[in-house]
Amino acid sequence: MPFFRCYKGKTEHERGRTEWGMAAIPEGPLHGGPAGAAELGAQLRAAVAEMARWMSEYGDFAPHPSQDVDMAALRQATEELRTRLRDNYPFFHPRYAGQMLKPPHPAAVLGYVTTMLVNPNNHALDGGPATAAMEKDVVAQLAAMFGFDQHLGHLTSSGTIANLEALFVARESHPGKSVAYSADAHYTHARMCHLLGVDGIAVPTTADGTMDPRALEELLRTGTIGTVVATAGTTGLGAIDPIHDIVALARNHGARIHVDAAYGGFFRLIADDRADGVAAAPFTAIAECDSVVIDPHKHGLQPYGCGTVLFRDPGVAKHFLHDSPYTYFTSDELHLGEISLECSRAGASAAALWLTLRLLPLTPDGLGAVLRACRRAALDWAGRIDGCEQLTLYQRPQLDILGYYPTRERLSEIDRASAHVLTRGMHLPPAQALFVATYTVDAAELAARGHRVRADLDRGRILRSVLMKPETEQHVPALHQQVLDLLADAGEGQPSSIDG
Ligand SMILES: *Cc1c(COP(=O)(O)O)cnc(C)c1O
Repeated sequence: MPFFRCYKGKTEHERGRTEWGMAAIPEGPLHGGPAGAAELGAQLRAAVAEMARWMSEYGDFAPHPSQDVDMAALRQATEELRTRLRDNYPFFHPRYAGQMLKPPHPAAVLGYVTTMLVNPNNHALDGGPATAAMEKDVVAQLAAMFGFDQHLGHLTSSGTIANLEALFVARESHPGKSVAYSADAHYTHARMCHLLGVDGIAVPTTADGTMDPRALEELLRTGTIGTVVATAGTTGLGAIDPIHDIVALARNHGARIHVDAAYGGFFRLIADDRADGVAAAPFTAIAECDSVVIDPHKHGLQPYGCGTVLFRDPGVAKHFLHDSPYTYFTSDELHLGEISLECSRAGASAAALWLTLRLLPLTPDGLGAVLRACRRAALDWAGRIDGCEQLTLYQRPQLDILGYYPTRERLSEIDRASAHVLTRGMHLPPAQALFVATYTVDAAELAARGHRVRADLDRGRILRSVLMKPETEQHVPALHQQVLDLLADAGEGQPSSIDG
């Protein structure tokens, strides 16, 4: 009985769901995670029925036998799929406090699957007018969140492609000039500069892993920099470059400013300097920058395949102009493919984001409440680490990513103990397993942050936890204790057998 269950003593039958597509409104909310699985199943079933009804308006036709699959074979193959999918980490669970991974919101799943049945292509209005309109709508919402008074932008299949587009426009508008990004910026900036044939220059960071404005100024004085990339939330530790200072410096030297907010962009919703918010100044300064990238598939509750690039000057469209004889024909209205480097893109991505934002809007009380819980989790855990001797905070979290390490004298011991927590934690039985990540630091980075560690290795691993699920907040005391327990059974100073 996959989709039928009792809800407060009533079956779905009693709640009027016997007819395909008649999804009665249940009394409770639609939860994320396994708690919401039955309701999501019912909603999906209704969505499939509704879309089939729309299709049938065009008249019945016989399906071609070449695409028919045998039901027994289907059952076997899907069983195999589910078995293979068990080879995964439980990204959905609060005890997964590792990398930047979590499942999409069920509303996004519903929006995606419903739309995928039609499979519109947002490259052109002819490929899907409804989802192209939804894309323009969500892009406008994101632009408004950043305070852009006008904009040009679109969704992309990832943050990498979105950054590539921003750097492409940077190159076209400042030909022959270089691009500067911080040494801790995402690695794809160097790669994309290489791809574009542009010189990319890494600017040194200060002790907290943010771009050093003095080093940037020195570089800008050479007159060779056409664009500065500021990162709002580095992928490693969530460090936020001082965008408010960078804007003034770059403007003085006639350089463009692009903000890579792929990870941190949605924290704009809680950039209010409050105790459980994040710093306002760098986020409000994004409104003055030339372009920004934000990934709805990171903190926007979306499945992979959803990045965004926004330009403040709609005039940059001239860099994308092209004419193809086979795509655009329905109207003089803007086709999204005319302003993007990619061609085919899933209209389902736009629909999923549109539906999600209808329910959890870009406001402090809407999606902002999710980010605030993540932020509180990071602050709470940082406080616990500060208050215990066994662990040391690597640096203060600016968002919801923690860097911390087992307190030891030597870097080799820190590395070994961190690897032990990582490996031992994930090999516990599922009902107890703990998932953290590691982050590699060098002796100079430790010293810059005032850590007195004997550098008997050039580089070593510390612990890193991305706390991007709001549920984590309730689990911080237990997570902290579990890291301590794993350390206690490491055997002080003893090499652990499992991590060699
Ligand atoms: C994740 C990330 C990227 C790359 O985005 P993808 O969507 O993974 O391609 C770029 N910059 C930053 C800061 C990121 O966190």
